[in-house]
Amino acid sequence: MKKLLVVEDSALFAKMLSKQLAENNLFEVHMAYSHKEAEVLLSRHDFFAAITDLVLPDAGEGQIVGTVVKKNIPVIALTGSMSDELQKQISSMPIVDYVIKEGKSDLCYAVRLAELLLDTKGVDILVVDDSRVALASVISLLEPLLFNIHTASSGKEALEILKANPKISLMVTDHEMPEMTGLELSREVRRHHDELTLPIIAVTGMREPKLEARFLKSGVNDFLIKPFSREEFISRIVTLVSARERYKQIQRYADTVDRYVISSSTDEHGIIRAVSQAFCDISGYSREELLGRNHNIVRHPDMPNSLYQSLWQTVKSGKSWRGEVKNSKKDGSYYWVDVNIEPQFDSQGQINGFTAIRQDITNKKYVEELSITDPMTGLYNRRYFSDQFPVYAEKAEEKGDLLAFLMFDVDKFKQYNDNYGHQAGDHVLIECAKAFKTLAKEIEALPFRLGGEEFALLFTTDSADLAQTRAEIARKAIQDLAIPHAYNTAAEVITASFGLCLIKHNADIEETYKKADDALYEAKEQGRNRVITLHL
Ligand code: GH3
Ligand code: MG
Ligand code: MG
Repeated sequence: MKKLLVVEDSALFAKMLSKQLAENNLFEVHMAYSHKEAEVLLSRHDFFAAITDLVLPDAGEGQIVGTVVKKNIPVIALTGSMSDELQKQISSMPIVDYVIKEGKSDLCYAVRLAELLLDTKGVDILVVDDSRVALASVISLLEPLLFNIHTASSGKEALEILKANPKISLMVTDHEMPEMTGLELSREVRRHHDELTLPIIAVTGMREPKLEARFLKSGVNDFLIKPFSREEFISRIVTLVSARERYKQIQRYADTVDRYVISSSTDEHGIIRAVSQAFCDISGYSREELLGRNHNIVRHPDMPNSLYQSLWQTVKSGKSWRGEVKNSKKDGSYYWVDVNIEPQFDSQGQINGFTAIRQDITNKKYVEELSITDPMTGLYNRRYFSDQFPVYAEKAEEKGDLLAFLMFDVDKFKQYNDNYGHQAGDHVLIECAKAFKTLAKEIEALPFRLGGEEFALLFTTDSADLAQTRAEIARKAIQDLAIPHAYNTAAEVITASFGLCLIKHNADIEETYKKADDALYEAKEQGRNRVITLHL
């Protein structure tokens, strides 16, 4: 941490200064209350800068400046009042600036100046003036700010220096110059550098009508009319350098966000307007491939329509939406994200787009999926059935729907195994699962392998007839696989028997399971390859 010397004999001001300095805590602060104490500290430490009161009890007015400047330390001078005599003395001193300490805000400015030196030290600045005397006077103001100063005596030379020194980040230019005026130079510079990356201050001796407007239109950030005071000049530099520094900080922050936050913005129709690098990285698409496309380019077929319906309904009503979403990558694989979508509003309060940020939860989902998935068929396992039963029961209750539990068991499967082999038996189960999964997705049901050759669907429905139709579709789907099974008593192909349990209220998992099992038993009894429905 850089060291700052503060010389102030007033205990009140000294306290206010240390409090202000502690706010950003950019310096190791050393306080002196007299010239003598300052001298002791100066002999012991290397100071980066100093804030000193000009009037100290044990030294002549302004003497402290000489003492500090001798050590090549930039000085910010504080004074209680400003006589003409002192003003004259100060204007010839090589200080950063002076501050008349009338109140807290003046001390804040002094501290801000000291902190600014951290940002201006070594920063490349270009001063353009055809007059050597004017050039020298501007340089004398800039030198105490520790800038790395480049000079040019014409617009043409300035452009060459800018080209050769891409690090130049501030330009001060005279306006009245032969060949190319400061205004013309600024226009030329603005073709390659914007107001934030290369601020420009123009200096003019003339009060030409409309010149000010022309300066501002040409992209000059600020201008000064000669003659100007150090205070005027420095306060403009402070404003520009601080703004540039804040911009750089925001830029750095934005870069980090771009790299690590999976974010995207769309218009109100879901057309992608912006994506972060992290979004491109995870999805495998380039920015060009995504911009202008509908956001559903990353939509995964596993995600149910209802999820997107509720998502759009929520965000279009002006609320934010949060949820876990599976997305498709360009290469066909997938990733899971925890998404937060916020609507964006225009100045009239109308929604004009949506912004989403996401967290990659693929690993978490992978582990979660492993624990709820049957490895052979990819269907959900019995554990997940126990988890989801109350969720679906509540869903049905809320909507005033029936809860449907459809259980099925492959017919004469022991015989199948015995005659076609256990491996062929596994294959049958996998094929049944596939057919079942497709159906489940269509009707937004959860498909389970409860164990062995026993499967189930869980869904909500507003009519018993519809549930029975669906059960019938499932039964037919298994039969339509047309897997030969010569030893099946119900058909010559693989079939299954179905037990459908429909629950109106207060669904209980044990009771439901028992009822569906009873129905399934009945289906077997009645000759297999059929659906029996029981109500609870
Ligand atoms: P039913 O029509 O009455 O249901 O007759 P079934 O032969 O299907 O009845 P049962 O319940 O006696 O037989 C089930 C068979 O399913 C027994 C078991 O070997 C077989 N099975 C259970 N799990 C698997 C599996 O993962 N792979 C294979 N290949 N067979 C399995
Ligand atoms: Mg069985
Ligand atoms: Mg069976």
